[in-house]
Amino acid sequence: MSPRFVLLGCVAASIAAGVAACSRSTDSRAAGSARPDSASLATVASSGEAAQSLMPNELGRIPVFEYHLIVDKNGLYERTHDGLRRDLETMYARGYRPVSITEMIDKKIDLPAGQSPVVLVFDDASPSQFRYVEKNGQLEIDPNSAVGILTAFNKEHSDWKNRAVFCMLPAAQAGRSFFGDKGIEGQKTEWRYKKVKFLAEQGFELCNHTLYHARLDRAGSMVEEFIARGNMAIDSAVPGYKVRTLALPLGMWPKNRELAQRGSWTDKKGHTVTYANDAILEVAGGPSRSPFDPQFNPMSIPRVQVIGDSAVARTLTAMEKHGQRYVSDGDPKTVAKHQTTAAAKD
Ligand SMILES: [Zn+2]
Repeated sequence: MSPRFVLLGCVAASIAAGVAACSRSTDSRAAGSARPDSASLATVASSGEAAQSLMPNELGRIPVFEYHLIVDKNGLYERTHDGLRRDLETMYARGYRPVSITEMIDKKIDLPAGQSPVVLVFDDASPSQFRYVEKNGQLEIDPNSAVGILTAFNKEHSDWKNRAVFCMLPAAQAGRSFFGDKGIEGQKTEWRYKKVKFLAEQGFELCNHTLYHARLDRAGSMVEEFIARGNMAIDSAVPGYKVRTLALPLGMWPKNRELAQRGSWTDKKGHTVTYANDAILEVAGGPSRSPFDPQFNPMSIPRVQVIGDSAVARTLTAMEKHGQRYVSDGDPKTVAKHQTTAAAKD
């Protein structure tokens, strides 16, 4: 038997439009069915269970999946090329579509009814995420790098947008410097800004992961410098780009947590750079609350590290089983919720 959902109505995002839409929801319930018009909702199959129609639930959880290296073998910080491809297929087949962190915090999750948002975040800016290969003097994106895999998936699926989030380091060692430098893994230093620019042009979100991944809890008086210089480097690559998201290296907060959110740094020439982050990413913690959930805190967004082949499916199944999946109602002006999630606990 399919789970029984109860529509509680909706919260108006815009009063005039919201009232109209709320009364529509109420009407359809009053018309005698606890289930909505299933023709208007996506039908998905979830891990061996029978296909089920999904009720709108915009207070449900949103998984923010976290990737590091995209390589030949799975590990704690490694995901295989084919593993990433399969993860995308799994998300797509189950009705998830990517949104960026900024779309999430701005509550601009504009998906058709029955679909669910998912966020993909790539940390550390290694060449494995974005590698060029030179062919006859032309630069081509390595199809086995994360960007190669993501852009190919976007070409094959017009309703899967380029919305992944890249939390980058501009000056770390071992090629973790805007996706490779100094010939490491065949990557030239002069390709770095070109890569960052490409990501912005394609619609991916640029996120700051600090200057070179120093732990902010041990950074003392340099916290603001590490964060400000991460943003400055992105601004050098894409002039005027407004960085809004910070990923904490190793999830460690500075002793003065306020400095993760805002601060400033003055260089030796007396030039002062200020920063103000609108979202801060943790390294773990499970699927995030919806931005429409009153308890959502953009200054501490939890993530799910993708470790091994079953991580994505397991996470989605757990959310779905507990009625915690965010499901769009297809109307950006209203927020649809259902009973179980309104009382969801951590
Ligand atoms: Zn990192």
